[in-house]
Amino acid sequence: MAGKEVPYKIYLEESELPTSWYNVRADMKNKPAPLLNPGTGEPMKPEELEGVFCKELVKQELDNENPYIEIPGEILDFYRMYRPSPLTRAYFLEKYLQTPAKIYYKFEGNNTSGSHKLNSAIAQAYYAKKQGLKGVTTETGAGQWGTALSMACSFFGLDCKVFMVKVSYEQKPFRREVMRTYGASVTPSPSEETQVGRKILAEHPGTTGSLGCAISEAVEVAVGTEGYRYVLGSVLNQVLLHQSIIGLETKTALDKYGIKPDIIIGCAGGGSNLGGLIAPFMGEKLRGEADYRIIAVEPASCPSFTRGKYAYDFCDTGKVCPLAKMYTLGCDFIPAPNHAGGLRYHGMSSILSQLYADGLMEAVSVKQTDVFKAAEEFARVEGTLPAPESSHAIRTAMDEAIRCRETGEEKTIVFGLTGTGYFDMVAYEQFHNGTMSDYIPTDEELAESLKSLPAIGA
Ligand SMILES: *Cc1c(COP(=O)(O)O)cnc(C)c1O
Repeated sequence: MAGKEVPYKIYLEESELPTSWYNVRADMKNKPAPLLNPGTGEPMKPEELEGVFCKELVKQELDNENPYIEIPGEILDFYRMYRPSPLTRAYFLEKYLQTPAKIYYKFEGNNTSGSHKLNSAIAQAYYAKKQGLKGVTTETGAGQWGTALSMACSFFGLDCKVFMVKVSYEQKPFRREVMRTYGASVTPSPSEETQVGRKILAEHPGTTGSLGCAISEAVEVAVGTEGYRYVLGSVLNQVLLHQSIIGLETKTALDKYGIKPDIIIGCAGGGSNLGGLIAPFMGEKLRGEADYRIIAVEPASCPSFTRGKYAYDFCDTGKVCPLAKMYTLGCDFIPAPNHAGGLRYHGMSSILSQLYADGLMEAVSVKQTDVFKAAEEFARVEGTLPAPESSHAIRTAMDEAIRCRETGEEKTIVFGLTGTGYFDMVAYEQFHNGTMSDYIPTDEELAESLKSLPAIGA
């Protein structure tokens, strides 16, 4: 099929949808480090994890051996409502950049939740339902994860309780209403509903909340309510597994036209979309069948890969979750208040951290005003308004394409366009008004937040 003219959008037939997720851990020589119990320093046992997560998801979390895990029929049915997602050849962007590079992007914003998070939300809701649970709790910052989970829970008739960071609850009323449309209850955090919420409110009346506090509230309610579990939308191995659907579809679409990418680029917050996009390509790389340059893009204001430390750390600010070995900035790290572009998590997926430590992928950091400049150019030439998070990948894809213009190399670049930017217009407004700035933490600031690393596993 090589040489056949590539259409603007490569769609797959329903029959070409992947029927299994791909578990890249099976092909890793150095497996990601296990989660540790913060009390004992020992690897978390399945029984311990099952108090927090659904049984089947614990199995997936700990499975380093099976390369393919069949997608249950009911999840596949749901996927068929909004998948396959299109893989687009960015002909207009190539022309605009006058580059000989060939650019493709996989767009995950084509569902109501507006991002790739639905791919894992539906799987997590399915296993919770199958286990006979009544509901799940979670936290949401910007709101994409809460929205995705609300849709998934509504589909399977599960109760969904979302603690939404108070400042987002007030600033993003439309996201909140989408969640309520799907039947979720949305509580601004900190709240009076939990012990930890009441304690924080007493100590800091008027606080606008934080992700760390919202996690602690969600975990408290899950652990204290019969028939409930807590769910998480990124970072975990199970989430990367579900997101492999992105990479599998991308690979099938490219293979149809005999296209082999040279460079694969994705933004990295907790690592789930990037881990999913690269999964089958990384598998080939690990098995020695092909080689690709793989680039993670993170904000310069929250640079876990490029300036963090590879160490065991807490996954949450409240220090209630197990310890994970990852590139981290320290669990007390909070990006500067003017940081508008998402990807604000202090750590990174253990899988991607191990692959990065082994030199199998690269990472770059980009400044947020450069990211929004790329976002605006992309919106104007390709038509799609990108999420700020996704625009980190756009920035680096454009930079690589510009490099190709200078060297004359005809590289094939694939990047993940994880979501739509409709709910992020306040950030775009700051960019347009010139009030957006680039705060980059100093070495001293990072050293300070890294002081909170636990002694365990060091
Ligand atoms: C949550 C989110 C991200 C970052 O999360 P990862 O787990 O790193 O993929 C990126 N883009 C969008 C649109 C998101 O909603």
